[in-house]
Amino acid sequence: MTEPGFSCFVVRKGSDGSITASMERQPRSALPAGEVLIRVRYSSLNYKDAMAATGNAGIVKTFPHVPGIDAAGIVQESSDPRYTPGMQVIATGHELGVERWGGWSDYVRVPADWLVPLPAGLSLEEAMILGTAGFTAAQCVQALLHQGVMPEKGPVAVTGATGGVGSVAVMLLSQLGFQVVAVSGKGDQTNWLKSLGAAEVAGRDLLTDPKNRPLLSAKFAGGVDTVGGSVLTNLCKMIQHRGCVACCGVAGGGELGLTVYPFILRGLTLSGIDSAWCPDDVRAEIWKKLATTWKPKQLQAVKRIVPRSKMQPEVEKILKGENVGRVVVDVE
Ligand code: NDP
Repeated sequence: MTEPGFSCFVVRKGSDGSITASMERQPRSALPAGEVLIRVRYSSLNYKDAMAATGNAGIVKTFPHVPGIDAAGIVQESSDPRYTPGMQVIATGHELGVERWGGWSDYVRVPADWLVPLPAGLSLEEAMILGTAGFTAAQCVQALLHQGVMPEKGPVAVTGATGGVGSVAVMLLSQLGFQVVAVSGKGDQTNWLKSLGAAEVAGRDLLTDPKNRPLLSAKFAGGVDTVGGSVLTNLCKMIQHRGCVACCGVAGGGELGLTVYPFILRGLTLSGIDSAWCPDDVRAEIWKKLATTWKPKQLQAVKRIVPRSKMQPEVEKILKGENVGRVVVDVE
């Protein structure tokens, strides 16, 4: 009898170093070891997935590889008593889609500790509209609140605002009552960003400083930065006294060209955000908030649902900085 197979999006590296990606069938035994087998219903597209789908050596260490740092689906088999067949679960981060075959697959098998039971108030689809991007945006908002950045302190900036993390951050912050200045390179998305709750939309030139001064006019109480590089540098120089910037992304560059002055004269806090290895208790708490009090009312407005076989153009788009909102990967 042949072993039951399943479909997945497989990235391969040829002997000449060339990278190819296509839908393939694999036997169930190809899945890695782990306590819980999940039938995936939806995954999503994050910047990291696009890097994995193009065989980026910083992300993919072994080939063949299946991308997808997010998965939402139904437990099929479990040797861990916390999870029973039929339960709806979310898996995000850890090694999923990086060291381990990820969610662009009919099935994933993972350690039970990586899972969060789908919280009441979210569907599997909604969980993947949020995905790692939404989870990261929520962690950024949490960091600002933790540092005392409240709506009455002044406007907050969100960079890379049309992207996955940025668009969810705009929704979350505006729902919490913040005056959000969305910073975006896509002038044609101004109305869309305003519909998500941005009070103002500014071009990327807001965060340039050809003179490379140590401090700039303090315009913002805080910020969520998904871009890094000079954008993050200049945002930090524009934060009011005792403000905070949550730094989570590298879409525009990994360098940071700051002096100590924003820290020692304005008391800036630069809060680093890491989603992959976020502690379990914090992870569960954030998902609960996203399902209840923080659940974005405009969630459906940021999603596009795309089947795995049509992911290649989406991968190219996100790598070029042209993505808008969240791509949910349909795994039917
Ligand atoms: P997206 O591509 O969806 O969003 C990034 C946005 O950044 C783009 O849409 C664009 O927005 C802007 N942008 C892109 N390139 C440039 C550039 N060269 N200069 C200035 N702005 C640029 O990606 P995600 O939202 O999924 O991820 C954003 C970043 O956050 C990525 O670097 C990703 O790796 C990181 N990330 C980090 C996590 C963590 O745990 N720390 C978790 C998830 C993501 P616009 O056109 O509106 O300016």
